[in-house]
Amino acid sequence: MTARTYTLLGPDRRPYDSATAGELGGYRPGRVYGRLDCPAALRAVARGGYVTNRVFFADEQTAVAAGYRPCAVCLPDEHARWKARRVIEPAPQPQGVDCSCAASDASLRRSTSDTSAYPSEP
Ligand SMILES: [Zn+2]
Repeated sequence: MTARTYTLLGPDRRPYDSATAGELGGYRPGRVYGRLDCPAALRAVARGGYVTNRVFFADEQTAVAAGYRPCAVCLPDEHARWKARRVIEPAPQPQGVDCSCAASDASLRRSTSDTSAYPSEP
């Protein structure tokens, strides 16, 4: 049996392989991060078209360093703190997705093999 690797995003927003799964998921177009079991993210995954834009972070510190903001649905406290800090620069709303965290273990597995989910940054 080979060891699984997970593709996580580092503080510089570059993907790297990790032996352990990330604690947080993120939605790249909206630069939002949240819990892996976020209900809004799971809804978005169920609708489809979401998985290829999902990223993962080892922890909150990394997600923040990468310029992502907390999800208002599953991380309300962090979101409130983020809003208090970032009143001047409102974040762009992700199109059609009210949150964007990650999802089930099944899609975590899928993301590890889907390297096309990480084209170069615009
Ligand atoms: Zn969320």
